Amino acid sequence: MADFNPSLNEDQLTIQKWVHDFAEDVMRPAAEEWDEKEEFPWPVVEEAAQIGLYGWEFLANAMFNDPTGLTMPVAIEEMFWGDAGLGMAIMGSGLAAAGIASSGSQEQVMEWVPQCYGSPEKVQLGAFAASEPDAGSDVGGYRTSAKYDQATDEWVLNGTKAWITNGGIADIHVVIAVVDPELRSKGHASFIVPPGTKGLSMGQKYKKHGIRASHTAEVVLDDVRVPGRCLLGGKEKLDERLARVRRGEKGNSQAAMQTFEATRPTVGAQAIGVARAAYEYSLEYAKQREAFGRKIIMNQSIAFMLADMATEIEASRLLIWRAAWLGKQKGFVNAEGSMAKLKAGRVATHVTERAIQILGGYGYTREYPVERWHRDAKIHDIFEGTEQIQQLVISRAISGLRIE
Ligand SMILES: Cc1cc2nc3c(=O)[nH]c(=O)nc-3n(C[C@H](O)[C@H](O)[C@H](O)COP(=O)(O)OP(=O)(O)OC[C@H]3O[C@@H](n4cnc5c(N)ncnc54)[C@H](O)[C@@H]3O)c2cc1C
Repeated sequence: MADFNPSLNEDQLTIQKWVHDFAEDVMRPAAEEWDEKEEFPWPVVEEAAQIGLYGWEFLANAMFNDPTGLTMPVAIEEMFWGDAGLGMAIMGSGLAAAGIASSGSQEQVMEWVPQCYGSPEKVQLGAFAASEPDAGSDVGGYRTSAKYDQATDEWVLNGTKAWITNGGIADIHVVIAVVDPELRSKGHASFIVPPGTKGLSMGQKYKKHGIRASHTAEVVLDDVRVPGRCLLGGKEKLDERLARVRRGEKGNSQAAMQTFEATRPTVGAQAIGVARAAYEYSLEYAKQREAFGRKIIMNQSIAFMLADMATEIEASRLLIWRAAWLGKQKGFVNAEGSMAKLKAGRVATHVTERAIQILGGYGYTREYPVERWHRDAKIHDIFEGTEQIQQLVISRAISGLRIE
């Protein structure tokens, strides 16, 4: 195992600057408009596609050609420093791509992942649909069913998915469905719903607190028929896995834990991108704003707040980078990916709230960006595993006990 080295190489510094420039020049000026509109920001995503920032090649390069694991969190932090709603619009298809890569065969990855992105001339989207109206954290409670029709070699999907990023507007939907209800979360499988498939429609589009440029909606599946080859991993592997579970044989939970833990540092990186934006802005503001005849930063109460904000961001980044590096080494021991995500979400929510405090009344208005950053930060305590679910995962890892 290579040593953990929290310094960036030349390539990473170049990527960091490239993403930062896009965030500063394109995302920042557009952020307020798309937050107000609450619509999918096609022009921004198209511009990201033009420079290669939106596309599966970027994702593949950043993920697979980087033995340190740091490239992805570094790029994502810069993007979310630009804007979290626009950042999510650019990164949302990655959830579908990751879902395909984690369960699909090599041929399936080659066929479907590029279709989650399309081309700079024709941008496409992917969506990863797992959560349901009555089951978000409780994945064993999913009800969307997938039944095999042997006569036609098709799978028939029925159910409703909730809170789906790019739901209903995506070209490729990756849907988690129940193939054996008795096996609870072990009886699930992942399916591709190709573009234009009959029976898939968008339900309600949610009006959100933050990341409003990112599209979040229900996905309704009404007798959706997909060909057998759309089952990720294939039927033979699914049948073998289900048979093993029914015999009571233990799955490879260590491998599953490594996979889940590996995606969490990137969500943490999103959170600290938002936190850093708010911290930098409030630091500058505190150096300019005067009250009682002096700059407000000259009061320890303000300066110490900023000192704490800076410290928390640095601490989070180190946790994230270390977790991202552990992910590459398959070296998670104590759910360090969950620790990084838990900490970064809390830090982003806290730091953005403190930024409002530092700006006082102005911070509470929509004329200044800190209130938007505070709204955007909160999602990081909720999606991709809530704060409490991260605590559950960590407490089980450190204790070896099945904490409920
Ligand atoms: C903007 C947005 C985008 C999203 N994008 C996607 C997406 O693309 N694809 C997708 O599949 N999902 C997506 N989600 C869904 C998201 O992952 C879920 O909202 C999240 O997992 C929480 O599920 P829930 O909302 O049902 O809350 P619940 O599971 O009902 O939780 C409610 C509260 O109870 C707590 N709780 C639940 N169980 C326990 C427990 N055992 N112990 C302690 N506390 C517990 C939770 O921490 C939380 O505080 C998105 C959500 C949002 C808001």
